[in-house]
Amino acid sequence: MSYVDRVLEATKAKNANEPEFLQTVEEVLNSLRPIVENDDKYEKAAILERMVEPEKVHMFRVPWVDDNGKVQINRGYRVQFNSAIGPYKGGLRFQPNVNLSIIKFLGFEQTFKNSLTGLPIGGGKGGADFDPKGKSDAEVMRFCQSFMTELYRYIGIDVDCPAGDMGVGGREIGFLYGQFKRITGRYEAGALSGKGLSYGGSLGRPEATGYGAVYYADEYFKSTGGSLKGKKVSVTGFGNVAWGVCKKLTEYGAIPVTISGPDGYVYDEEGINTEDKIAFLLEMRASNRNEAKMYLEKYPNAKFVAGERPFGKVKADIYMPCAMQNEIRIEEAKAIVAEGTAKDVIEVSNMPTTNEAMKYLQENGIIMQASKAVNAGGVACSSLEMTQNAEHLPWTTEEVDARLQPIMRGIFQNCKNAAEKYGCPGNYVAGANLAGFQKVADAMLEQGLV
Ligand code: GLU
Repeated sequence: MSYVDRVLEATKAKNANEPEFLQTVEEVLNSLRPIVENDDKYEKAAILERMVEPEKVHMFRVPWVDDNGKVQINRGYRVQFNSAIGPYKGGLRFQPNVNLSIIKFLGFEQTFKNSLTGLPIGGGKGGADFDPKGKSDAEVMRFCQSFMTELYRYIGIDVDCPAGDMGVGGREIGFLYGQFKRITGRYEAGALSGKGLSYGGSLGRPEATGYGAVYYADEYFKSTGGSLKGKKVSVTGFGNVAWGVCKKLTEYGAIPVTISGPDGYVYDEEGINTEDKIAFLLEMRASNRNEAKMYLEKYPNAKFVAGERPFGKVKADIYMPCAMQNEIRIEEAKAIVAEGTAKDVIEVSNMPTTNEAMKYLQENGIIMQASKAVNAGGVACSSLEMTQNAEHLPWTTEEVDARLQPIMRGIFQNCKNAAEKYGCPGNYVAGANLAGFQKVADAMLEQGLV
């Protein structure tokens, strides 16, 4: 049995009840064969065995009191996956379905993603099975304060810098930072990112994930001699990332035609490409209703399809899923291929495609781009926020963007080059894994058995 197969088998046996984690490990390790099976130094140093084992896992009780005076208990997590190239870095997700498998999958992906940015950040992720939907500001504050009362022990500028993810935005980061500052008695701004502009946040951070994804896409189309101009794009989600994607796509002359929510999807044939419509996405998010159909209240010409996702159901040249993991399963993959218009799936949300769907799409001529490369603009900008905090100087929007653009364009080039170097040209997903792996593995090899 080959090295990769042995590690996969052992990882499956040890983490049998963690399907999302096993999904990403399987996807990543299979694509690393051209590196790790051609040089036994990786096996001798047990690089893969160490990479699939988080350095530390913190799991903790989060007690808080709701507005009715009732005691609530949630479970909090911080998985510190890999610190070979820098302090742990990655978001916090508050969503009722959060569990150890989901946090480990996200932490594992984050290690490769952060490496791809070229910045000195290791991989980590955290969160809680807390549902922010319908909670009052006071409840969210009490939850965040209780969560931080445990988390503060594990984070810090040179230790671990959490940020937002689904369910954690500016409001939550504010409450978390306030409590962190109070407990530690220090103004350690670089210990959390995604902060508000008045207390150490970076201009451009809220837009960075979506804008970065479009910079990446632009670089990809340029490399093929094409462009985004005139392309119809089916976007899913309608949160912060989908908003940034729609806004930047529009600047490049592409036409976003869908958004989606837990209730179904919206198809606006005329394009979600006016200032008005894009601004309305923010209103929809701020309303806290979490319903895509709200779009029709302002734009009744659009179509709403309840309980479905747009994959294979609309005419689009490109799909850019921006909602959550496993949005594209084998059924959706088959529908995309059967519909026939789309040539590209540019993943934006973390791991939106199941391994089976990925294989089917690639075998049927769809060019895939990996989320860990495409969405790295968010964490890259977080790292730029840490830099600004360290030098006690805020940068202008232009300065931040001038760093973000080359980072995203460089990530695409690295994915492309790695795929070519290791014998799978055009497989940008494998390229992302290979390029992300190389830097982390080199650092681990040089640092000895830790
Ligand atoms: N949660 C985002 C991600 O998936 C951002 C993390 C960060 O800014 O640290 O990369």
